[in-house]
Amino acid sequence: MTRKAPRTAATATKARAPAKKSTATPKVDPRAQAAKVVRRLKADYPDATCALGHESAFELLISTILSAQCTDVRVNMVTPELFRRWPTPAHLARAPLEQIEKVIQSTGFYRNKAKNIKGCSQALFEKYDGEVPQEIELLVELPGVGRKTANVVLGTVHGLATGVVVDTHVTRLSQRLGLTKHTDATKIEQDLMQLLPKSEWVDFAHRMIEHGRQVCIARKPKCDLCSMNSC
Ligand code: SF4
Repeated sequence: MTRKAPRTAATATKARAPAKKSTATPKVDPRAQAAKVVRRLKADYPDATCALGHESAFELLISTILSAQCTDVRVNMVTPELFRRWPTPAHLARAPLEQIEKVIQSTGFYRNKAKNIKGCSQALFEKYDGEVPQEIELLVELPGVGRKTANVVLGTVHGLATGVVVDTHVTRLSQRLGLTKHTDATKIEQDLMQLLPKSEWVDFAHRMIEHGRQVCIARKPKCDLCSMNSC
């Protein structure tokens, strides 16, 4: 005969304890959330594109380097003069550093940026015959070029989805919309690449940036005007 385990005080309490009600908010499926964000961004900003003025991959590459910690509007104010004086990688590679600094000064961090755009132009001239390579692995080896800049150029000029552009707007909105918990751009990009279909990577970033500029502003988001309705 099998003996039953003796009923102790502990097991008796356990048996009587009522099931605890969960107070946690139901978890939103991140993929469903991402799909919803994609749909609403598409409806709100069907034609969003890169706001940096450019006529070639080279110009967009240099403009994107200049856009670090600076508005696109400001960059667009200095680049006409920059490319008028030094229109190709060969010209910019030979330009005196002090003169480049003077032209781009208003974009901030101008010493470092001047060094980078000159170094980048030298590398393009010497290694790639003045052409901008279309491989992300080669682009990120150029001075001043990280994944964000490389993705901007490849996505905007060539329509190549090599990743998702993660700038300050995409970072902030992705966090607010529950698409990532990370703060590091590389990890945020990984999260977004997992959640979004590849066909959406390029336009998604353009639209998020537009939404960040117009509605989901850093300090005071205009939630009452926002179609997301989910933060
Ligand atoms: S504006 Fe408000 S509701 Fe819209 S994405 Fe930003 S935080 Fe969310």
